[in-house]
Amino acid sequence: MRRVKAVLKAEDMPNRWYNILPDLPETLPLPLDPETNKPINPAKLERIFAKGLVRQEVSDKRYVKIPEEVLEKYVKVGRPTPLFRATHLEKALKTPARIYFKYEGETITGSHKINTALAQVYYNKLEGIERVVTETGAGQWGTALSLAGALFDLKVRVYMARASYQQKPYRKVLMQVYGAEVYPSPSDRTKVGRYFLSQDPNHPGGLGIAISEAIEDVLTDEKARYSLGSVLNHVLMHQTIIGEEAKLQMEILGEEADIIVGCVGGGSNFAGIAYPFIRDAIKGRKEIKFYAIEPKAAPSMTKGIYTYDYGDSGRLTPLIKMHTLGHIYNVPPIHAGGLRYHGVAPTLSVLINNNIVSPKAYHQTEIFEAAMLFARTEGIVPAPESAHAVKGVIDLALKAKEKGEEKVILFNLSGHGLLDLKGYEDYLDGKIQDYEPKEIPILKSY
Ligand SMILES: *Cc1c(COP(=O)(O)O)cnc(C)c1O
Repeated sequence: MRRVKAVLKAEDMPNRWYNILPDLPETLPLPLDPETNKPINPAKLERIFAKGLVRQEVSDKRYVKIPEEVLEKYVKVGRPTPLFRATHLEKALKTPARIYFKYEGETITGSHKINTALAQVYYNKLEGIERVVTETGAGQWGTALSLAGALFDLKVRVYMARASYQQKPYRKVLMQVYGAEVYPSPSDRTKVGRYFLSQDPNHPGGLGIAISEAIEDVLTDEKARYSLGSVLNHVLMHQTIIGEEAKLQMEILGEEADIIVGCVGGGSNFAGIAYPFIRDAIKGRKEIKFYAIEPKAAPSMTKGIYTYDYGDSGRLTPLIKMHTLGHIYNVPPIHAGGLRYHGVAPTLSVLINNNIVSPKAYHQTEIFEAAMLFARTEGIVPAPESAHAVKGVIDLALKAKEKGEEKVILFNLSGHGLLDLKGYEDYLDGKIQDYEPKEIPILKSY
């Protein structure tokens, strides 16, 4: 039998996260305090995030040991996840390339987000914090944090973009099943929320507004801290468990990746699969090409400007240097809700500037076409976000066919799409629309 799957035993799961900061080709620009335009005082960050997470955010240590309690919960929620070979997709494409994918959809909340949710809740609990507050778009992140809260017995409050709250009720229900409080955003609970509601009582909301509401909420409660599902260094670091596992699994299969692909919203699942391999590539051990795939509707990597910008619409976050479309950019309502963000992780921005990672963008129609082919060959219905990686891989495999090259391609299938069937229904009914910004909102210089 050909080997089409590699699994690891719980005991063989890697027990450390990889921090890319000391290996970056240049030092990362520090976050700025918008009041002074000077590097922000970590004490100010500690009012927003748990201390342990702020420490990880600026750590120069290459490896961080995963706490025992977190390792145990990783196993409970489905880690290590399997790595598969997509033999049926290879056959359909008639490509000489061998395609492998790490499948994060097998975790019990259905995506990679649980990897950082458990870590973040753990550090908050350790410090005596009583509640974590967050935002969610389509609901993947909110669901993961709600489960992590349930497993560590910590309260969770979620501001969910109103459009998703109304159109995609099932993830909201799941969060409530796990015991979280969920509010549609903009809400009348915060100043920011009331401001946007006064503009439009049926405001559809968005990630940028929901982040502002969550932070404002935290600032009124000494025992609460904010939790973010992507973009920041510590979040990306927690996701490297994906790539560390994948390295061991590729070894079991006797394969070495030539190409690594992931989709990008804020950059956390891409970093998860890619950064442990980039570590080796930077040290010159192996030549690997890295592709980061985003939607043309939110093209922060391919069309954004590299500059300091806010992480939220209400301008409550520190300024971070990243590829951004501007915090006032209104991301069109594509089905890949998890990719509807105006910026991208600072570390990923640096890797793009140094030509270590190549970004690519696709339209929604081609994304769903690729997702359909994947579902009909491999059986897994990808999340619309993950389908961006699938599309990138299909193009690369077809290019390998053109050139007659036996490339080994590895990608991260960040989640399943079984709660995103509305998008598939719209695709089947021919109702999918493509969006592209005519212009990028002009950024003020900060
Ligand atoms: C949230 C999400 C993403 C995008 O976020 P990243 O931080 O870029 O990984 C991608 N895929 C799935 C399934 C998601 O839930």
